[in-house]
Amino acid sequence: MARAATLNIDLDAIAHNYRVAKSQAPKQKALAVVKANAYGHGAIDVAKKLESDAPGFAVACIEEAVELRDAGIRKPILLLEGFFAADELDYICRHDIWTAVHNNFQLEVIASKGLAEPLNVWLKLNTGMHRLGFSPDEYRLAYQRMKDLQQVSGITLMSHLASADDLASSETQKQVEQLNRIHRDCPSPRSIANSAATMKHPVALHDWQRPGIILYGSSPFQGDEDVQAQLKPAMTLTSEVIAVHALQPGDTVGYNGTWTCERPTRIGTVAMGYADGYPRQARNGTPVLVNGHRTQLVGRVSMDMMTVDLTGIDADLGSAVEFWGEHLLANEVAPWCDTISYSLFTSITHRVHRKVKNCVES
Ligand SMILES: *Cc1c(COP(=O)(O)O)cnc(C)c1O
Repeated sequence: MARAATLNIDLDAIAHNYRVAKSQAPKQKALAVVKANAYGHGAIDVAKKLESDAPGFAVACIEEAVELRDAGIRKPILLLEGFFAADELDYICRHDIWTAVHNNFQLEVIASKGLAEPLNVWLKLNTGMHRLGFSPDEYRLAYQRMKDLQQVSGITLMSHLASADDLASSETQKQVEQLNRIHRDCPSPRSIANSAATMKHPVALHDWQRPGIILYGSSPFQGDEDVQAQLKPAMTLTSEVIAVHALQPGDTVGYNGTWTCERPTRIGTVAMGYADGYPRQARNGTPVLVNGHRTQLVGRVSMDMMTVDLTGIDADLGSAVEFWGEHLLANEVAPWCDTISYSLFTSITHRVHRKVKNCVES
């Protein structure tokens, strides 16, 4: 038997979640965001699963697009940050890759090249995130410039929301209004909605949605129930108990003894550590499931193992442990580790075995 640490992926859950995203604006289009290896779920498997439904995909860089093309994915793929170097353009225009253009460097590279095929450009407007994009004043000029280039076949107005997961914030409304103001002078399709906007900000639903985290079954809203109830978690991280110890009051557990036993306690050592991608910051009390029973992490997470409280639980050597997934939401675990589900999902390392269910038959 091999070490039990396993990442279980259910592609049917992702297909279900894509349909949920899509149903928010059925007449408009939703690119499936599969950057960062589909948030750790496996970009090739996910893209194959969604290719019959999704009009295209979005990734962070050309390496991620090449991986999908090499695997036979044919639908358009958007580079959310565009290209980083001029020599990417040749591949981009030959392989039906769409590119964001967020600065003058990218614009000038396109303008200075003769291209084999014209480009589909997503021209990025900075509406307040202040990370990428042209300011509103620069934007109109950039748009006109792109319009006049024969290297460009189509333009989509693109922006990104900073606080769509915060329903009390007025920022989303302001950002959408900025995009709409630009649209009056630049009448092309619009795209601003991430998952949070797709689910909760109808004003942001323009021509193209860009859902990411909801495809993987995790609500972008902390403490939310109604969005989460519509989604199916697609990633379940599991392992097994590999040792059991009976401890007495005063005994401590793990590196630096950060947890002290107060009553007779059964401790289970589990094959899962920070080198597998489980966060080392997880505090005493972080929930885990053992044999389906809810219990908690005690002591520090180490590189290859962690320790959990088995007192009063029907569990022993070899018992199954779930860290997050189908029965324990990543959104419940994340705050114990000062992080978010996105980071939990994308941190799992190659050492963990992957088991993928409901793949597309090839
Ligand atoms: C990652 C990303 C998304 C998807 O965000 P979610 O919150 O996961 O839905 C959308 N647009 C851009 C530009 C992104 O970088």
